Amino acid sequence: MSKSLQAIRGMNDILPEQTPLWRYFEGTVARLLDNYGYKQIRMPIVEFTELFKRSIGEVTDIVEKEMYTFEDRNGDSLTLRPEGTAACVRAVLEHGITGGGQVQKLWYIGPMFRHERPQKGRYRQFHQIGLEVFNLDGPDIDAELIIMTWRLWGELGIRDAVKLELNSLGTSEARGRYREALVEYLSAHHDKLDEDSQRRLKTNPLRVLDTKNADTQAVLVDAPKMADYLDDESRAHFEGLKARLDAVGIPYVLNPKLVRGLDYYSKTVFEWVTDKLGAQGTVCAGGRYDGLVEQMGGKPTPGVGFAMGIERLVLMLETLEQIPEEISRQVDVYLCAFGEEAELAGLALAERVRDQLPNLRLQVNAGAGSFKSQFKKADKSGALYALILGDDEMAQQVVGFKPLRGQGEQQSIAWDALAAHLATCVVQG
Ligand code: ATP
Ligand code: MG
Repeated sequence: MSKSLQAIRGMNDILPEQTPLWRYFEGTVARLLDNYGYKQIRMPIVEFTELFKRSIGEVTDIVEKEMYTFEDRNGDSLTLRPEGTAACVRAVLEHGITGGGQVQKLWYIGPMFRHERPQKGRYRQFHQIGLEVFNLDGPDIDAELIIMTWRLWGELGIRDAVKLELNSLGTSEARGRYREALVEYLSAHHDKLDEDSQRRLKTNPLRVLDTKNADTQAVLVDAPKMADYLDDESRAHFEGLKARLDAVGIPYVLNPKLVRGLDYYSKTVFEWVTDKLGAQGTVCAGGRYDGLVEQMGGKPTPGVGFAMGIERLVLMLETLEQIPEEISRQVDVYLCAFGEEAELAGLALAERVRDQLPNLRLQVNAGAGSFKSQFKKADKSGALYALILGDDEMAQQVVGFKPLRGQGEQQSIAWDALAAHLATCVVQG
């Protein structure tokens, strides 16, 4: 083999030293969502390309230039999912679980694929936890989504480092009227817009609002504001959301330029942003999409959801050093046995202890080795205690119990009493 094998650029291995933090993060979110009454759904990673074109919209960054699309052996055009909402809507429609106004509160987790320029916080395979609620149209549920994420930031210890940005895009009619006004205004200033914005003016004019180009931003200062075009219903909805956030004490910033990349949003849109990660500052984004289900062939069904980027949030935990102590230790107890007879007795003893203490993290030495080498491994494992089985211990049917982190002297514990003893000195997760 001449050329060394490598992973695809922007698609990362998550190495054993990183997985504890990932699992802590994922476990924290999963428990929170369970507690609020959300149910997990699992969709395939590959769907028909058509699904994403129809739901996300033809003139979006994702569909225009970011999708991993290929033909399978049947000649069907398939795409690695760039996001979760489309597949989730497809799934609920296919299984009829939102029919007759049934409320569904769903969440999912998994890899997403977008052909973007890889950089810190931006990858080609990345992971999201997403959530979608169907058949609830009030601002109370929009508020609940934000309240849940607020609680999550609190539990993770990153609340002070994120900021909530909010906007309302109105109903599709209101948005249509606003789009017309915006196009009229921007067309009158066409020459002052950057090239990308000139193109977007024709294809997806609202996206001009989140341009990074300074000249275009200057033009936008006097542009019509979405807030002036909101219909009464959207206005009341937005006020309802803000009142609930105020009631719970969640601060927010109104950002009239927040339009989100996807075509399907209406009314509420929001983003949680941070300045701790450099350019890739959005850690969670979402909004309401009351027209999407119908657009995808279902009955009119209100929907609202969000997705958070796991890589970016894990990076934040690392950057802010919010890594709980308990996840840095993977082993509670390490069993060393010397000689074949002791090894056999040790195995049986370990299994008896596991029967009684199913959550104990007990590692049995493998590969035999001298006293010195087994102790070195015990210490390196991070265990709090070593258990020792040598000739003397075998003769007396005891096990040596040695604290490895300086909590007292070595003791002898009878085999039958071992589990009870461990239960008193190891806090079990
Ligand atoms: P961005 O503006 O950063 O490209 P987006 O609007 O395209 O984000 P969404 O489609 O709303 O992102 O996805 C929700 C979240 O998923 C983002 O807020 C971000 O945390 C994460 N995310 C999106 N794209 C990537 C990526 N390529 N790599 C890592 N995380 C990503
Ligand atoms: Mg993007």
